[in-house]
Amino acid sequence: MIKAQRGTKDILNDEIPTWQWILENAKNVFQNAGFSEIKTPIFEATELFQRGVGDSTDIVNKEMYTFSVGGADKNSSSITLRPENTAGVVRAYIEHNLNRQSPPQKFWYFGPMFRYERPQAGRQRQFHQIGVEMFGINEPAADAEVILSAVEFLKSIGLGNLEVELNSLGCPKCKNDYRNSIKEVLAPYLDDMCDDCKMRYEKNPLRMLDCKNENCQKIFEKEEVKKVIFNDYICDECKTHFNTLLSYLDELNIKYQRNKLLVRGLDYYNRTVFEIKSSALGSQSAVCGGGRYDGLVEMLGGVPTPAVGFAMGVERLFSLVEKKEVSKLDYYIVSTNTKEALKLAQKLRSQNKKVEFDMQGRKFSKQLEKASKCANYAVILGEDEIEKGFYSVKDLNCGEQRKIENFSDLL
Ligand code: ATP
Ligand code: MG
Repeated sequence: MIKAQRGTKDILNDEIPTWQWILENAKNVFQNAGFSEIKTPIFEATELFQRGVGDSTDIVNKEMYTFSVGGADKNSSSITLRPENTAGVVRAYIEHNLNRQSPPQKFWYFGPMFRYERPQAGRQRQFHQIGVEMFGINEPAADAEVILSAVEFLKSIGLGNLEVELNSLGCPKCKNDYRNSIKEVLAPYLDDMCDDCKMRYEKNPLRMLDCKNENCQKIFEKEEVKKVIFNDYICDECKTHFNTLLSYLDELNIKYQRNKLLVRGLDYYNRTVFEIKSSALGSQSAVCGGGRYDGLVEMLGGVPTPAVGFAMGVERLFSLVEKKEVSKLDYYIVSTNTKEALKLAQKLRSQNKKVEFDMQGRKFSKQLEKASKCANYAVILGEDEIEKGFYSVKDLNCGEQRKIENFSDLL
């Protein structure tokens, strides 16, 4: 028997109402905040992710689904199933000159992402993200708007009490100074660190700070190292930007915690980075990760454009929310006259009623049994009803049956 691939999951009918409800809330909240939906392709040129996510990241190094298409032909090219959607949205933004509209340009998206990771609770190889990206605004109001949208969306699905963790990485200038001092203080310990950290040391030293390896953690605990890590290194401009954001969040009553070790996985973040976590999720606790990426549009060939956004893992949201039931039918048509049952189903559905009927001409008792399981009302179309032109309607919750003369009274 052929089974679904490891790390992928069928979403079956009993889970669909909850998925739809999550998405309806996303659409409402993000559209009310002026984000319009964007749909970009599921695969892109591999180079987009190598440059746009960064080749020091776990995603690019270990987790990409990359294919060569076009065979040995000289036109063959390398494509990758998107591991995340910021790079794709930025590519679309540049390709369609969306910067011609006056800023901000605000987008939200939903769709599957693909990462070749070890499957475990909270970690799949095909999973879904909901996210937003906002372009063109430098001011901390944009960071506040993006965090507010995330929190409001979470509130709308009953997860309003999750805490936001945030940090400022600084701008390229102060980030660079910080990076150098980190490298300097860690240099003597490099031999004792994990292979990932050895690689990160060259390519993206800040990423070392959220290494989960015990040995590495011990090194970060050393006094002289701690002093450098926790040094308040960001420049005055970045400090003002960050403090203004914090004052907005205070004003909005959004709870947050500063986490100086929060650096986020992707290479392109600067200034604000944030995560939203739920302790109910165990070790894969992050439901949302985001931040500012002011250099990315230019790096991918566009004009310099500040930007900020986030992505949420929908499967992790799903596991936290209260589940929605499959809604019952308005009517189940009980009849052995298939033609009349079909016609009535068509008529009721055209009035936006949820209706099904028996397609096998089974006994009335069997049909009523089925109806009571899946519908609020049964409409009985027996010979008498069809001949005289009325409907017998049975309330399946209380068992009461009524005669209804006019179709309009069914609505
Ligand atoms: P993690 O630390 O869990 O690996 P990440 O930093 O790789 O997260 P992001 O790239 O920021 O994750 O993606 C944003 C969100 O997408 C995460 O907070 C998480 O909710 C979800 N997510 C990421 N990878 C997976 C996965 N393999 N399976 C399910 N959800 C995922
Ligand atoms: Mg990851």
